Amino acid sequence: MNYQDILNEIYQTIEPILKEGKVADYIPALAQVNPNQFAMSITLFDGSSYHIGCSDENFSIQSISKVFTFTKALSIYSKELYARVGKEPSGNPFNSLVQLEYELGIPRNPFINAGAIVITDTLLNKYKTVDETYNEISNFIKEISDNVDISFDKNVWFSEYKHGHRNMALANLMKSFNNLDNDVEEVVKTYFKHCSITMSTKELSRAMLFLANNGIDPITNKRFITSSQAKRINAVMLTCGHYDASGDFAYHVGLPGKSGVGGGIVAIVPKVMSLAVFSPRLNNWGNSLAGTKALEMFTTKTNLSIF
Ligand code: GLN
Repeated sequence: MNYQDILNEIYQTIEPILKEGKVADYIPALAQVNPNQFAMSITLFDGSSYHIGCSDENFSIQSISKVFTFTKALSIYSKELYARVGKEPSGNPFNSLVQLEYELGIPRNPFINAGAIVITDTLLNKYKTVDETYNEISNFIKEISDNVDISFDKNVWFSEYKHGHRNMALANLMKSFNNLDNDVEEVVKTYFKHCSITMSTKELSRAMLFLANNGIDPITNKRFITSSQAKRINAVMLTCGHYDASGDFAYHVGLPGKSGVGGGIVAIVPKVMSLAVFSPRLNNWGNSLAGTKALEMFTTKTNLSIF
């Protein structure tokens, strides 16, 4: 298969729709990015990689960071984690409060905001301070991506902190149900910090390879989680990785994937490769519009969907 030709074809078809959709503006710093960018990267098990567009451009990974924090927490707490966060699709927007109220402060899954905030709380239990917890998360990402050059965007972090009223509300609601152990401010600060990590599609497609290979990085041969845990993470990505559009993503793309409001999406082709796309304009569910389309074209052209 000539992956570079396929990426070139995708880019040509995608270009006319790069002006569709809307950049996330509820985090004001995210509204500053050039909205018409596009990048797509593929990394294979032998380390060979293919790219199109601005694949070296760092962007805010936002909810893609939840894949790393879920992986880290699962590797520490194993099944115990599910006492505090579920593994079912929510069928609701990523920042919704409604379900959390009638389900007594237990979030449906680790990829909606409430679930990711609980995961951050479990990491704060272990590492104690905002800085230490963030350092552990970023060191974990550095190891997984075999790249020491990972950092966060202070501007985005501060902007989200200033305007993160909904996430504060989610955290406070969970605290009222005794499902948050640490101080609300500390948890939310840590959560915003890992959401504001910046990476490129080149780096992200490299980083997610371990999930395509039963928890082992096929290039360095390092194991990060058990193969059973890798199976579970992929399952939760497939069913919950795109919030209330997870069914739509499975239907059109057919791969485990995780999006972020910064416009990035990562996806896994089990036993074969991992992919990342970036395009900041979002669809109505808060997922990259052109990015979703590009991934759909990819699985259509290559027959590499899991279905
Ligand atoms: N930091 C963002 C928020 O909490 C993450 C949401 C997302 O990427 N879907 O709103």
